[in-house]
Amino acid sequence: MIRLGIVCPCYNEQEVLMLSAKHLTALLDDLHAKQKISANSFVLLVNDGSSDNTWNIIRQLHETSPYFKGVNLAKNVGHQHAIMAGMMTAKEYCDAVITIDADLQDDLNAIEKMIDHYSEGYDIVYGVKKSREGDSFMKKTSAMAFYKLQHIMGIKTIYNHADFRLMSKRALEQLSHYGERNLYLRGLIPMIGYRSTEVDDFIRSREAGHSKYTLKKMLALAIDGITSFSTKPISLIVGCGLFCLLISIIMFIYVLCSYIEHFAVPGWPSIMLSIWFIGGLLLLSIGVIGEYIGKIYIEVKHRPLYNIEQILWDEKENSHDKTAD
Ligand code: UDP
Ligand code: MG
Repeated sequence: MIRLGIVCPCYNEQEVLMLSAKHLTALLDDLHAKQKISANSFVLLVNDGSSDNTWNIIRQLHETSPYFKGVNLAKNVGHQHAIMAGMMTAKEYCDAVITIDADLQDDLNAIEKMIDHYSEGYDIVYGVKKSREGDSFMKKTSAMAFYKLQHIMGIKTIYNHADFRLMSKRALEQLSHYGERNLYLRGLIPMIGYRSTEVDDFIRSREAGHSKYTLKKMLALAIDGITSFSTKPISLIVGCGLFCLLISIIMFIYVLCSYIEHFAVPGWPSIMLSIWFIGGLLLLSIGVIGEYIGKIYIEVKHRPLYNIEQILWDEKENSHDKTAD
């Protein structure tokens, strides 16, 4: 039986936390009764610098139920970092971690399937949204546009997956070696490369409280999601520069013809040519410098070069060989 840790980031969730705790307790009781998880499985609530009563509620839950553990972050660091703090703390005490938002908009029924996949040997199980009834029109369309944009930029993520997923202890151990500060877990976790699969997730609307993902936070996440994984925007600048230089050649022919045919007003040919030529040259130069900065950017991340899946190494065989010598 596995010891499961459920990690929930909580930012000003006083309205919904007690309700969520009730659902999570029922879920853990049920999974334990079905012998899927051990009795010492737990829920780790990460208080992400809330300014309301959230931390007091977490303390109260911890005092009244052995399931609930708490981590209090010194200040608000945002959803991604709060999840990371929770996962890194929880991995020391369990075999697998499931991350889920404190409002439990994701489908709790998917958790049992995630555990089954873990038992089959999968290290990462992604919750993939099959319906988003609980999300607003604005949220649905912006999310779709963002997933498409990521795809165009060549970033490998799981389509329609947010941060509802199971990770095994060893996958978390590997994740801890990615020292990124601009954290975008949905891009990072598929890079680990361990065996993974998906389960269906159906989004409900919040039972209480309101969304803590302001437009500003959503945009910051989207920008991190693209700029942390792709230097394509820089290549686009290089492309634009080359395009302008090409136009400057066409302009050169056009301006020359106009000059010979005496259509051109004095001064026009030189200005016309300079605009396109200098513009193209500047864009190209910025792009080339950008390419180098892009390389530096990738280097300073110090991402691990590889993650080892398995090592076959029998010490006994080696010592036997030696004595045979
Ligand atoms: N959250 C957090 N830090 C923040 C913002 C949000 O830990 O700065 C948590 C929040 O408490 C919730 C989860 O991230 O558990 C997702 O936030 P929310 O439900 O408000 O976002 P939405 O579902 O509307 O995208
Ligand atoms: Mg939510």
